[in-house]
Amino acid sequence: MPNSAEENSSPRQIAVGRRVVVIGGGLAGLAAASALSSRGMSVTVLESRPRLGGRASSITDRDTGETIDNCQHVAMGCCTSFRAFCEETGCEDLFQTQQELYFVGPPGQAKVVRFAASSLPAPLHLASSFLKMPWFTLGEKMQIAFGLRALAKDAMKTDCSFQEWLDGQRQSETVQRRFWHLVLVSALSESLDRISLRHARKVFVDGFLASREGWQVSIPTVPLDDVYESRISAALRKHGADIRVKAGVRRLLIHDGRISGVELRDGSEISADEFVLAVPHYLVKTMLPDEMAIHPDVAALDRLETAPIASVHLWYDQPLTDLPHATFVDRLSQWMFNRTVLGRRVCLDAQPDSAVRQDAPYSVADRSMAPLPKGEGENDGGCCLQVVISAAHDLSAMSEDDVIAKVDSELREVWPESCDAKLIRGRMITEHRAVFSPLPGVDELRPVQQSPIPNLQFAGDWTRTGWPATMEGAVRSGYLAAENVLRRGGFCESIVAAELSKARLYRILFS
Ligand SMILES: Cc1cc2nc3c(=O)[nH]c(=O)nc-3n(C[C@H](O)[C@H](O)[C@H](O)COP(=O)(O)OP(=O)(O)OC[C@H]3O[C@@H](n4cnc5c(N)ncnc54)[C@H](O)[C@@H]3O)c2cc1C
Repeated sequence: MPNSAEENSSPRQIAVGRRVVVIGGGLAGLAAASALSSRGMSVTVLESRPRLGGRASSITDRDTGETIDNCQHVAMGCCTSFRAFCEETGCEDLFQTQQELYFVGPPGQAKVVRFAASSLPAPLHLASSFLKMPWFTLGEKMQIAFGLRALAKDAMKTDCSFQEWLDGQRQSETVQRRFWHLVLVSALSESLDRISLRHARKVFVDGFLASREGWQVSIPTVPLDDVYESRISAALRKHGADIRVKAGVRRLLIHDGRISGVELRDGSEISADEFVLAVPHYLVKTMLPDEMAIHPDVAALDRLETAPIASVHLWYDQPLTDLPHATFVDRLSQWMFNRTVLGRRVCLDAQPDSAVRQDAPYSVADRSMAPLPKGEGENDGGCCLQVVISAAHDLSAMSEDDVIAKVDSELREVWPESCDAKLIRGRMITEHRAVFSPLPGVDELRPVQQSPIPNLQFAGDWTRTGWPATMEGAVRSGYLAAENVLRRGGFCESIVAAELSKARLYRILFS
């Protein structure tokens, strides 16, 4: 609580100059740092790796030295705090909101269906696109419509696995696989039996039913490293934040029931008034004093289960498709992101007079229009595709070469006209603990941001935000932690962005 001198000052003055150490330079830590430094606090960010971004970051390809992302990261329109963070740090122009998604039908019916909102209000805005999907029979489309209605109306008195809920909804095996699983595995990276009803409902309601914008996908047009380096770091430094990479913290130091400082791996110590611990959940216990590590809030983190996500990076000597991205039905490959086309868009963004519409997929002929940016999109007339496989539990039984060969053959089946294209190189990156599994009851295992120690906040997608493990969840946690730090200084402000408002028709139908 503020001391007597502080009580005489305005809240804003109390916030100025207080020292905060943020441990972890992932999105949660950066969001907390951004919120606090822009409100006058003296912030130091300590990140153990050589680059920022944590699980949403770039790596340097060992063979070529090229900068590629560990995995394509996308945000939906319902991710309002993530969007606010991008605006706050001036990087929103490095993401492009897609006005269309492209669904590729199952093997044998590999037709591409463009999925876009009609002019109807939510929840009917996507209905016409959905009705165009030829791989569902009319009966299956009816099943899905009834299932969505039941899900939106479900009062959520009890939580159970989504599979258990579906079993009571007369949804055929094909519908479960080609619709419910298709959407949820990409959003939550788990199989239907390992997803809670509550988290599944959030994806469909917030993303597809309640508002017209929730489903729209934003994709970075540059490697994530560029987002952190050129914009986010610069914005933080402008507010005086001290960002240190290769600065791993060994442990937090406690004195008289408060955190007094951190000890770095090089043995040095840094003291501060407030601390935000924004490392992955499985590291929290190792960094806390023994008496804190056994606290039930911390001990519960051992019970959070995790799911792997794999991304397969493929470089071809010629373009396979003009589509910027595509979602596959009934294949090992789930999402394809065409880094060459997505990378081109940032070049063309710099050409306001270009005749090419920014929201149209570029044709192969457009390749000569502008030089490709450095990084993922760069190649000599070829293309770089990233294919994401979420909930990749079963991939451990396959070799990297087998996964690459399978994905390559699926892409050639979808775009047979590209049979002459030569696969120059393939690389698979698997994040084994990519996200926590949204099992029933998972939210009870997630601690709130205010730790049992007054001047220590937890931040990370694993903290209690109401969101699954996403960039939105991470940013929200950082903002909630920042709100607590400010409140402790006597400065009350809501930093977390409001959710999208629910459309009137949605409220009439489902409230
Ligand atoms: C492959 C993959 C694909 C994903 N796809 C999407 C997607 O498309 N959309 C989406 O919204 N979300 C996606 N996610 C989830 C999203 O990346 C995470 O939810 C989010 O980035 C988590 O951020 P965080 O800050 O909570 O944690 P982290 O990103 O894990 O950050 C923690 C940071 O702490 C640092 N650290 C650890 N130990 C120490 C120490 N001792 N001292 C100092 N620093 C330390 C780490 O190096 C790291 O930078 C994906 C995740 C993965 C792995």
